[in-house]
Amino acid sequence: MQKYDVIVAGGGFAGTAAAISAARGGAKVLIIDKGNSFGGAAANCLVNPYMLYWTINPKTKQKKVLSAGLFSEINAELAKFGATKPVNDTDLGFHEEYLKLVLNRMVLKEKIDILFNSYIHGCETEEGKIKSVTIVNKSGNTTYAADVFIDCTGDADIAVMSGCPYRLGREEDNLCQPMTLCFRVVNVDMEQFKKDRQIINTVYKEHQAAGKIKNIREDVLPFYTLIDGVIHFNSTRVVKKNPTDGRDITLAELDAREQVFELFDFLKANFASFKNAAIMNTAAQIGVRESRMIIGKYVLTQEDLLTCTHFDDTIATCNYDIDIHNPEGSGTSHYYFKPGDYYTIPYRCLVPNEITNLLVAGRCISSTHEAQASYRIMPVCCCLGEAAGTAAALAVQSGNFDVEKVDIATLQKTLKDNGAVID
Ligand SMILES: Cc1cc2nc3c(=O)[nH]c(=O)nc-3n(C[C@H](O)[C@H](O)[C@H](O)COP(=O)(O)OP(=O)(O)OC[C@H]3O[C@@H](n4cnc5c(N)ncnc54)[C@H](O)[C@@H]3O)c2cc1C
Repeated sequence: MQKYDVIVAGGGFAGTAAAISAARGGAKVLIIDKGNSFGGAAANCLVNPYMLYWTINPKTKQKKVLSAGLFSEINAELAKFGATKPVNDTDLGFHEEYLKLVLNRMVLKEKIDILFNSYIHGCETEEGKIKSVTIVNKSGNTTYAADVFIDCTGDADIAVMSGCPYRLGREEDNLCQPMTLCFRVVNVDMEQFKKDRQIINTVYKEHQAAGKIKNIREDVLPFYTLIDGVIHFNSTRVVKKNPTDGRDITLAELDAREQVFELFDFLKANFASFKNAAIMNTAAQIGVRESRMIIGKYVLTQEDLLTCTHFDDTIATCNYDIDIHNPEGSGTSHYYFKPGDYYTIPYRCLVPNEITNLLVAGRCISSTHEAQASYRIMPVCCCLGEAAGTAAALAVQSGNFDVEKVDIATLQKTLKDNGAVID
């Protein structure tokens, strides 16, 4: 059986950052993804743009970037291709095809072994440690061993397979935030769209009230992209389905695809800007905002966010709003942080209680439904992955693979030396 220092499950922002930082810390790393590229939701689900990851100090008027480190490095690489651009006052858009290329090159540069199109479906544990994971791909079933594992699957698959407890969605009823199939429309008359945009939601609501639109989402959510004439839509909504249930996710895909065409037909029929437009693409997979979150050494709560708690073992910072798309139907609630305010995320949220050589990073760290609604954005997931990879490398260097024992001061210093913002 092939053995690595660190195996990273999932190659989204969290997983890719984890793999790169673990390798930079000297570890021999394998990263595995069921898709055909890095980028995770950005690549597979067409999620775009980056939501807010900076704040302005109201007194000094100075801008403070909260998600930096590897995330800044990735964006600097993207910028070399002209593949990032602000799409409104707060959000940075990026071209996901260049993201995939940039991440490939960054991962290969660190001599990390990569397995794409490989689904992790099994996990062997012994005395509170993961010994190996088993994947299936065109070669059949293969098992890989490692000293430390990092679960960046979004759904906490490895944590769950190894017996770690978790929460699914809201505490009271396990409902998760809605799933959304994103799509892009090409050949939009952009000058006309600026005008149409002012009234799209009014007309949408009239059509919804008249029963002509079945989508339960309260409004249409378009974003400009890096490509002239192309508009991105984050506007379908499927509720009350479990994203970790094979049958439910299939039903969600079927429902959301109907919604894509319903919305496109509505736009084309009612707005001059869409007269010559066409659907360019739908995402390869429906996007999952929320599913399982582990119950780890510390559970990050809404209270921690509202009080802008700064933890001693901070490994990431965030001020994105608590953005809850109604898990039951229409409506989206927001709690916005004041300028200059932000909260921090402790290392303990990445550390499960039951398995000593496992870290969890990305949207499935230990938290409540409400806290997850804020830190789940791509910039923060990238920073969480960077922290997990850095910690895994420190564990490997020390020869003690119990990730709870990683020296926090060394972890924080390493993150800071690498440009991360943790205070
Ligand atoms: C519809 C939607 C809109 C959003 N809008 C925004 C936005 O505008 N801006 C923003 O910043 N964030 C947004 N988000 C949130 C953000 O995209 C995600 O929370 C974030 O990308 C999660 O990153 P991650 O690395 O934790 O997980 P993911 O990006 O989901 O990566 C997980 C990876 O693991 C792989 N994987 C999973 N299970 C297995 C397995 N068993 N075996 C092998 N591989 C596996 C997957 O293929 C995937 O590549 C949105 C999310 C959704 C769904």
